[in-house]
Parts: sequence; C-alpha cells; structure tokens
Amino acid sequence: MSLKGKTALVTGSTSGIGLGIALGLARAGADLVLNGFGDASAVVAQVKQFGGRVGHHPADVGDPAQIAEMFAYAEREFGGVDILVNNAGIQHVASVEEFPVERWDAIIAINLSSVFHSTRLALPGMRARGWGRIVNIASVHGQVGSVGKAAYVAAKHGVIGLTKVVGLETATSNVTCNALCPGWVLTPLVQKQIDDRAASGVDPQQAQHDLLAEKQPSLEFVTPSQLGELVLFLCSEAASQVRGAAWNIDGGWLAQ
Ligand code: NAD
Repeated sequence: MSLKGKTALVTGSTSGIGLGIALGLARAGADLVLNGFGDASAVVAQVKQFGGRVGHHPADVGDPAQIAEMFAYAEREFGGVDILVNNAGIQHVASVEEFPVERWDAIIAINLSSVFHSTRLALPGMRARGWGRIVNIASVHGQVGSVGKAAYVAAKHGVIGLTKVVGLETATSNVTCNALCPGWVLTPLVQKQIDDRAASGVDPQQAQHDLLAEKQPSLEFVTPSQLGELVLFLCSEAASQVRGAAWNIDGGWLAQ
C-alpha cells in the first residue's frame, strides 16, 4: 500500500510506540509530522531515510493552545493532516488515596483531552479532502483495570468512548476513527515499571518475566513495529468499514 501524498501526524513520536508507527507510515510513503519531547534531530533523520518530507513540532499535548499551534504548523508546512495517530501518553502508579492530584490532571490532559483537541482540529480538513484516518493508541487498560493506575485506566477508557463517538459521527464519510489496545510493549514507559520492581531487589530479568507472567499469556512483548503494521492496515481500503473499534494487540491479555 502506498501512502504517497498523505501527511501523517503522530503525537509522542520521538520514542517507543509512536516512533515505531511513524517509521511504518514513512516506509509506506507518507510525509510525517513528528511530535514529542527531547532532541528530535536523530529521529527526524531516521524517519527521513524513506524519502518523504519530515517535520517535528515540539507541542506539549497537555496544553490545548500548543496543540492548535502544531495543527497550524501542519497546515502551513504540509497542507493539513490526513492521518492522525494520537499516541502521546504518560503513566503514574500509585493508589487512589495517594495519587498526586497534579499527576491525575496531567494524565487526563495528555492521555485523554489531547485526543479530543487533536481530533476536533483534524476533522474539518479530513472531511474537506474526503479522506482521513484517526488511530488512537488506547491500551488494554481502556477495557480492564489494574491496581495503582487510576488516572491511566480512566483516561484510556475515555479514549475508547471518544473513539466510538467519532467513529459514529464520521460513519457516512471516508474518515474512520479506531483505537488500538496494546498489552505490554517494551518502551521507556514500561522499562520504568520494570526498573521500579528491580529496585526492590528482584533480578531485572526476573522482574521483566514477572511483569509479563502476571498479565500477558504469550510471555512476549508486543513490538512498536507490529503496532505500525496495524496502523497501516487501518489506513488501507480493506479497513474502510472498521469504525469505532477497539482492537486488542496484547498477547492474549484480554482473552482471560
Ligand atoms: P514512551 O514513554 O516511550 O513515549 C512517549 C512519547 O510521548 C515520547 O515521544 C514523549 O516525548 C511523548 N510525550 C510524553 N508527554 C508528552 C506531552 N505532554 N506532549 C507531547 N509528547 C509527549 O511511551 P510508549 O510506551 O511508547 O507509549 C506510547 C503510547 O502507547 C501511550 O499512549 C501509552 O499509554 C500507550 N501504551 C503503551 C503500552 C506499553 O506497554 N508501552 C501499552 C499500551 C498502551
């Protein structure tokens, strides 16, 4: 499949899953607007190897005004966004009684409200051009809970609800909106949770095995490139009637 002539914006694409998805879209020929924290020059160079145009906007997606600036940049430099992947996300693990209020607010803003803001800014252009794909990176935690993850689980359940509504509101158009629900993917976000377990004296390999064994029956991590392939499928003509779905890719986590 060729995505030549399409522009994709992937939030949180300087690392982990977002980078894997950006590489998949670039390999298929799309131009890319990257976003995320840190020095983006190496990531821009990596995505540019596939020959398309690549830009980076450093918006903090926790701030609606910065999201609007990023969309204005995409419009000005790339002529708009055809494929929107809402991927940026953060985690904080604590019980509800001990959950820092500021972390709750940040997780809701970055993991949930940003999806609303990006979507409302992307839709008019997609409708005007008669084609669009919105893929929200939710999580298995959009469908089930885990202790210590109140804000994350609430935000990801919200993302799946929002995905259904946008899927319905675009149902008679060539714009689709779907969510992916990954299980464990070995990225910096998950490495931190393994390191926290290892800090209590457990061998790091054992900590990694225990993390998988508790939830993911395959005992293997999902990879960013597998997520990239699934996004490509959702961009294809074959997926044009996949609408408002929450698609598990979780080594069997949610089958239990
Ligand atoms: P990561 O920490 O490796 O990458 C997160 C990316 O988001 C980085 O590029 C970071 O710079 C960016 N980011 C963070 N806060 C931002 C902000 N305020 N504004 C703009 N960019 C910001 O994390 P990851 O594991 O690749 O997670 C990506 C997404 O996948 C998240 O939404 C996460 O909830 C989801 N997810 C991850 C897993 C997993 O096991 N890793 C599983 C299910 C879902």
